[in-house]
Amino acid sequence: MIKNTLEKIKNKTSSICRLDEPLKKHTTYRIGGPAELMIFPKNKVDLIKTIQIINENKIQLTILGSGSNVLISDKGIKGAVISLKNSLKQVKVNRNELYAECGAMLGKIVKLAVKNNLIGLENLNGVPGTLGGALIMNAGAWGGEISENLSCVELINSKNELKKIKKDEINFSYRKSSFDNSDILLSAEFKLREAEKSIISENFLKAQSGRRNTQPLDKRSAGSLFKNPKNNSAGKLIDEAGLKGFVIGDAKISDKHANFFINNGDASSEDMLKLIKKAHSTVKEKFSIDLELEVKLMGFEESQIKGL
Ligand SMILES: Cc1cc2nc3c(=O)[nH]c(=O)nc-3n(C[C@H](O)[C@H](O)[C@H](O)COP(=O)(O)OP(=O)(O)OC[C@H]3O[C@@H](n4cnc5c(N)ncnc54)[C@H](O)[C@@H]3O)c2cc1C
Repeated sequence: MIKNTLEKIKNKTSSICRLDEPLKKHTTYRIGGPAELMIFPKNKVDLIKTIQIINENKIQLTILGSGSNVLISDKGIKGAVISLKNSLKQVKVNRNELYAECGAMLGKIVKLAVKNNLIGLENLNGVPGTLGGALIMNAGAWGGEISENLSCVELINSKNELKKIKKDEINFSYRKSSFDNSDILLSAEFKLREAEKSIISENFLKAQSGRRNTQPLDKRSAGSLFKNPKNNSAGKLIDEAGLKGFVIGDAKISDKHANFFINNGDASSEDMLKLIKKAHSTVKEKFSIDLELEVKLMGFEESQIKGL
């Protein structure tokens, strides 16, 4: 079935298709087994056609942006994985409105807004990833969130319908959005405000130095592993539980920031999962706090991740 689907996609689109593509090449953790079929669409038309073929053939579909917020099992992902890290890159500004396709990197979007003296996105300076991933995660930093100045999002739903959804039809909260699991985000529009360049630059630089001073940016990670509980900090709890620097195989809790779990070499997904469970259960035992994952787990069996 997969090979059949691959042939159809190759015949009808100019998407690049690969069988058994190692997903570790496509995640910031550098962890992850093969995607049964990995597809890199060239553009929006290709993407829409590709999704249609996958859905018609009833193949399970997973979307990846730049893989900076995922931990993928060494067993890989069944079905098709579409990567948007090489396409849908268009970003443009018209007065105070910014339009971007969902494969565009957040860094590029933030810089374009800053260059045009538009305030509202600069706190996200340094957050890796594509716009699609940022919207799904409601990415945020230094008091700002991607959803704040959002006007609308264009997406394809499970019925292959192209929809434009206004911001007030979507619920955003801390690192969470209400998009359906099967929605594939294509583009978004933001309404920003003009402001003094000096104010925007100050916020932009503050975000950059704050990040450099507190996060192990030279290591392979997926950013914060757990969400911060209300009025508390996951990093502080893990640190106070005595786990800073704790190692399982090549997976390590960073010495610099205890909510950054890093791949110190060639960590397996099992090493990382064991480390996550260790931190989760120790914090629960010591502080009666049930930490919630921010990083998305992909390709694991239900039984492996029960309780997380
Ligand atoms: C060093 C480092 C620092 C970080 N700092 C921050 C931070 O300060 N704040 C913060 O919020 N995050 C942070 N992150 C996490 C990460 O960068 C963000 O969550 C980012 O927005 C994820 O984007 P992505 O393209 O990599 O998404 P991916 O990791 O590829 O995917 C994340 C989720 O979004 C889905 N998805 C991606 N694109 C689409 C699409 N087009 N349509 C539908 N679904 C899609 C995927 O299926 C997955 O469920 C950090 C990560 C690292 C490595």
